[in-house]
Formats: sequence, C-alpha cells, structure tokens
Amino acid sequence: MGKYGKIRTEAGGGEGTGAADSPRERLRELRDKYIRSLPDAIARIEARWSRILEDKSNRDEARSLHGMLHTLAGSAPSFGFSEVGEAARNAETLVRNLLDSAEPQDSDAWERIEAGLDALLAASITSRCEELARRRFEESVPDAPLVRGEPKTVFIVDDDACLLQNLAVQIACFGYEVRTFTGLEDLEANVEKSLPSAIIMDLMFPEGKVAGADAIAALQRNAVRRIPVIFISQRDDFTARRMSVRAGGDAYLTKPIHICSLLEKLDQLTGDREADPYRILIMDDDPELSRFYALTLEQYGMRTRVVNDPLQIIEHLVEFHPELILMDMYMEGCHGDELAKIIRQMEAYVSIPIVYLSAETRRDRQLRALRIGADDFLTKPIKPEHLISSVTIRAERMRIIRSFMERDSLTGLLNHTKTKEQLDLAVLRARRRGGSFCFAMIDIDGFKSINDTHGHLTGDRVIVILSRLLQQRLRKTDVMGRYGGEEFAVILMDTNEEQAYRVMDEIRKSFEQIRHESDSGPFPVTFSCGITSYPAFQDSLSLNKEADRLLYEAKRRGRNRVVTGKTLEGGEA
Ligand code: GH3
Ligand code: MG
Ligand code: MG
Repeated sequence: MGKYGKIRTEAGGGEGTGAADSPRERLRELRDKYIRSLPDAIARIEARWSRILEDKSNRDEARSLHGMLHTLAGSAPSFGFSEVGEAARNAETLVRNLLDSAEPQDSDAWERIEAGLDALLAASITSRCEELARRRFEESVPDAPLVRGEPKTVFIVDDDACLLQNLAVQIACFGYEVRTFTGLEDLEANVEKSLPSAIIMDLMFPEGKVAGADAIAALQRNAVRRIPVIFISQRDDFTARRMSVRAGGDAYLTKPIHICSLLEKLDQLTGDREADPYRILIMDDDPELSRFYALTLEQYGMRTRVVNDPLQIIEHLVEFHPELILMDMYMEGCHGDELAKIIRQMEAYVSIPIVYLSAETRRDRQLRALRIGADDFLTKPIKPEHLISSVTIRAERMRIIRSFMERDSLTGLLNHTKTKEQLDLAVLRARRRGGSFCFAMIDIDGFKSINDTHGHLTGDRVIVILSRLLQQRLRKTDVMGRYGGEEFAVILMDTNEEQAYRVMDEIRKSFEQIRHESDSGPFPVTFSCGITSYPAFQDSLSLNKEADRLLYEAKRRGRNRVVTGKTLEGGEA
C-alpha cells in the first residue's frame, strides 16, 4: 500500500543531476532534435519557394509556404534560434501581403520575398548559430524550482522565548520541522546554510521597532530564491503592515497568534506543487513545439497532456480533465477559435481557462479570438518564465473559483455533496477494477460543551485544526470531506480495514495530544471514528449507514476510539 503521512516529492531535476528523464534533460534532447531538423525545414521552405516561382499564380503553394514560415517563426526562438525566428517572421509577413492582395504583385514584391528568404537561409547557416542557440536555450530555460526538502523546515524568529517555544511545539505537531531563533544575529548564516521552506518573523526586536522587517528585506535581497515569510507582531497599524509587505512578507498576523491561521498560511505558502500539480492541456499541431511547452511546464511541476490533432481534443478533455487549455491559433483542420467555441459550449468546460499561444501578432486578430471567451493571448515565441507565470496565475484562479463550489469554506475540505459524489465514484472505480477502499466517519467528542464553555469561535478553530491534521496525515489520494458540523468523512483508497484502523488511530492519538487555545487556557479534545469498507458493503448508501453505526458504537463505548467491523466481531463490550 502507499505510504501514509508525508508526501514524498521527487528529488533531482536540477542542473547536472544527469537524470536521463528529468524534464530538463528531455528538453535538451528535444532541442537537439530541433537543431538536427532545422536544415530540413529550411530546405522544404526553399523547395516550396522554387515551385512558387515556377507558377506564380498558385496560391495554394503560397499559403502552404506562409504556414511553414509562420510555424518556424513561432518555434525557432523557443529553441534558441532568435535570428532564424526573426527572419522567418519577416518573410511570413511578406508572403502574407502577397496572399492578402487581390492583384498580381509587381516584381518588387517577389524580390522582397526572395531577399527575405535569403536572409532566413543566411540566419540558419551562420556557423555560430547552433552553438549560440544551445547557449541561449540553456539560459532561457529556468531551473526547476528547488525541490522542497522533506519535512519542510520552518524558521521561527521571535525574542519572546516563551511564545517561540509554544509556536514551535504546535507547528511541529503538523509535520513541520521547526528551528527557533530568539534573535536576528545567526539568522542569515543559517538561511545561507540551508534555505527554509518559510520564515515566521516577529517585527519588533531590541534593535528596533521594525528590525524584523529590515532583516527579512536583507535576506530576500541575498537569497538564491524568495523565501515565503509570515510576519507576526503586536502592531496592527498600517505602517507596520506596509513595512512587512515592502520587506517581502507574504502574510501578516497579529498577536496573539491563532495557531490555525498560522498553519493555514504556512500550508498555503509552502504547499507542494508536486503534490497536486496543475493539469494543463496543450493543443498545438506542431509536435515538437508542443512537447517543448509541455516539458517547460512539467519542469515546473505541472502535469501536461499534448494533443496534436484538434479532432481528438474532446476525448482528451474528458479523460485528462485539464484545469487550463493552451491553444494554438492556426492548425490543420481546425482553427483555435472554433475549437474554443466548441469547448465553451460543453457545460463542464464553460469556465475552463483557455489561453491562446500563437505566432499571430496582429492585434485585431488576437482581440477577435479573445472575444470568443479566451482568457489571454500569448505570442510565440514566448519566454518560458512568462509561459509558466501566465499558466500558473490562471490555473490558480480557476482552482479558487472551483473550490468555492466544491469545498467547505471553514476547512477547505470537500463539502457534503462533493464527498458523497466521491464516495459514489470510489464505489464505481473499485467495482470496475476490483479494488478495495475504506470509508471512515469521524465525530468530535463533546463538541457541544466545547462551544458552550469556550465559545463558538474556539469551536470553529478546533474543527479547522482537525481538518489540517487529516490533510497533513492522510495521502493526497485519500478523500477528506466535512460531512456536517463537527463530522468528517474520509475515503482511504486501496486500503483494508486493518490498515485504515492503524492510520485513523494514529491520527486519533495525535489529535488527543494537541492543546487548543482558549481564553481560559489550553484544553484537549478527542474524536470518535467508525470505519467500514468496500467490498464488505457494496454501495455508498450502505457504506454510509454502516460507518455511522460503527461511529455510534465508538461513542457508546466511551468515545476517543476507532471502531471497525472487526472490533465488533472481537466482541469486547
Ligand atoms: P458527542 O460526543 O456525542 O459527539 O457529543 P457532541 O456534543 O459533539 O454532539 P452533538 O452532535 O450533540 O453536538 C454537536 C454540536 O456541534 C452542536 C452544534 O451546535 C455544534 N456545531 C455544529 N456545527 C458547528 C460549527 O460549524 N462550528 C461550531 N463552533 N459548532 C458547530
Ligand atoms: Mg460530536
Ligand atoms: Mg455530531
């Protein structure tokens, strides 16, 4: 069975690892293939041109030549051949003028194209061209994001030793490795030694009222990569908040610190892209260029699906379920804007972001394409970092929008409806593949009295803490939902009851250890859990009923325990 607890992230992928199948390595292979194929592409363009010269009235040949130049203009710069791209773009414009004009062109126009193609040829045979392309390519492809070590390390810096210790213990409960600093002196040296996943930084120190911000500003300037920073402070004034933003802070929390707000920020800022990568579908009829985009995005931890034949896009949409579509504009057999329209007409894809990626530079054409409901128009050639950021921003927004519909706003877990949907799906999947899974229901013990004693807000925080613990300790493939007020449901995939019992009981023990904050001091909370499984129960309704019954049994037997069908058979009353 899969590993419970922490999610393993793949190491490597960086410069010089020599891993043959790292995205960067594959990008290099692709580039080398492109370099080898370039002379052929140029030769085909030359041949087409010769045929046009023999029969200047043949517009089909001219259109085909235009297409070849258009493709070359879009792809060459991505592989480092900027001059070739520029020359191709120039020649493309000349051929297009020829095509756009109804009258036969004078000899000047033909000569201009001839000159343009000569320039293209020259650009592609410059002896340094290849080597230059290789170097540019290396420079332009960003390094894979640093793979975050596991567990994620968090530095906490605060001159209040007591608060520092308390935060450290609590955060460590949730799987972070914590290092504490009571002053600013050793911080920089330690950051240099090993980059933390995040820094939690107090604002005021003996050195000054915003010394924390100054220290972070200096760190961010010198660090090899931006470090996520959460400022914590007594101060709640605008000036302090502005200082923190300017210093490069990502969040600002005022003291007293609520551990669950802090954890939420931490999880957000240190979240692994690898754990739940964005799914990007790339629709482009140029196989090499689309591979290039795919690898560029993969190198940044996204999952991609390349589709070269527009007619196949529907089946890939259904199967791959992308969160964003990168769409070429001009393709054999279908135009990008037609395809966008078709996709938009399908209910499930009304809101999926569509980003055009095309060598089309004419603004009016771009605007026309955007009107159909695309979200952006990126022009080939595009810098890898520009592609990555454009895709990330939109995919991120899409996830947020979708989460409003599918997730519970307090905990971020799936809501009741979505959880039940997932249970139905799990049944269908297990039936088809003959797999097994467990269904667990959790209910917090004595929750009513927590609300009554400490207030509703404190109760809410307990709910959030438990949801974080579940997210931290279960696998990404497991499904977690907030079933009702203080009730949770978990689907543990490919797991039998014994395994599920072990996992849930571990979580139960951890939860029991956590001290929740309240005005009248810290207090512990427990939960009860009932676990049943497929195929012992074969449909979602009976799974639900059985888990509920076992949960009730756990309550009846004294709470703070996990009960499975086996436990009952065991017969201890
Ligand atoms: P038991 O150990 O038997 O589960 O006892 P209990 O008090 O937890 O059970 P009960 O179901 O009677 O109480 C649940 C309470 O949870 C009732 C309701 O007011 C409260 N509750 C439900 N949803 C929320 C919520 O979102 N936030 C807070 N703070 N309380 C909630
Ligand atoms: Mg309860
Ligand atoms: Mg209840």
